[in-house]
Amino acid sequence: MNPHPEPYPQRRAERQAWILARRAGIARTPGLDPRRPSHWLRESEPDPAGGQASILTIFLTNRECPWHCLMCDLWRHTLEETVPEGAITEQVALALAADAAEHPRRAQWLKLYNAGSFFDPGAIPVSDRPELARQARAFERLVVECHPKLVGDRVLPFRESLGAGTRLELALGLETAHPVILERLNKGIDRQSFRRAAQWIRHHDIELRVFVLVKPPFLDDPEALEWACRSIDFAFDCGAGTVSLIPTRGGNGALEALAARGEFAPPRPETLESALAYGVGLRRGRVFADTWDLETLEPDPARRASLQERLERLNRLQRIG
Ligand code: SF4
Repeated sequence: MNPHPEPYPQRRAERQAWILARRAGIARTPGLDPRRPSHWLRESEPDPAGGQASILTIFLTNRECPWHCLMCDLWRHTLEETVPEGAITEQVALALAADAAEHPRRAQWLKLYNAGSFFDPGAIPVSDRPELARQARAFERLVVECHPKLVGDRVLPFRESLGAGTRLELALGLETAHPVILERLNKGIDRQSFRRAAQWIRHHDIELRVFVLVKPPFLDDPEALEWACRSIDFAFDCGAGTVSLIPTRGGNGALEALAARGEFAPPRPETLESALAYGVGLRRGRVFADTWDLETLEPDPARRASLQERLERLNRLQRIG
């Protein structure tokens, strides 16, 4: 490893090249097919009424997100080209059919996650939206991801075509409410622009889900916990119904370069757990912690299993004790 790794640029104009250069040697997932979702699964989460919603989550295969956030490794599971018109609806049809063959009862909610923004026309062709709305109409709720800069009037025709029986929920990455770190993440947003996007969403009676990073780069664990809590507060102040806590993980080259400079390490398990307990204890909405890849946080298998059990219990019950 280079003992003197190049620092992350202070100047915004230089950051993208720095981030992209750190991808060297990291392969995209091989064999991605524009006519097949990369994955789908059943999950459940507490719903606003206090029950448990069954959810079908489909991870769509599409072109890479045009933003290049410092911490993002989702590009590894994307294509370099826009998919053909109709390919996304084919992916959804395939997952719906496979799910129906496996489960006698349809899920209540549908999540269409695309490692980017649903309303990015380079990722999901606009011409696919009417059929996607038709496919989603069988569900009580549709959750899609969206970069805050793509929130706006382009969303409304799709919301209308869903009909009254399917609630639309937009999932936005705030990442952190720390103003300096948020700027350094290269996401192209600040607290004000995020708040404006959230206000637009709530004004149009659309549900808001917010992703918060637990321990973004440049923070130690005590600071990370404080800012995770402040970010949860900020998300609820913006009208979020759900906050999803994502422990920051390496894997994109850029975070490894920062780690070599002592500027990044994944959160300690107790930081994630304390942030989740704080958010759940607020009782302002539902707060979940992402429990994937917990081995990056807790290498010991027994302690990891116990951590996973505690996190999943809090996720499920939404109450402390
Ligand atoms: S906006 Fe989201 S998907 Fe796009 S690069 Fe940033 S974190 Fe990744």
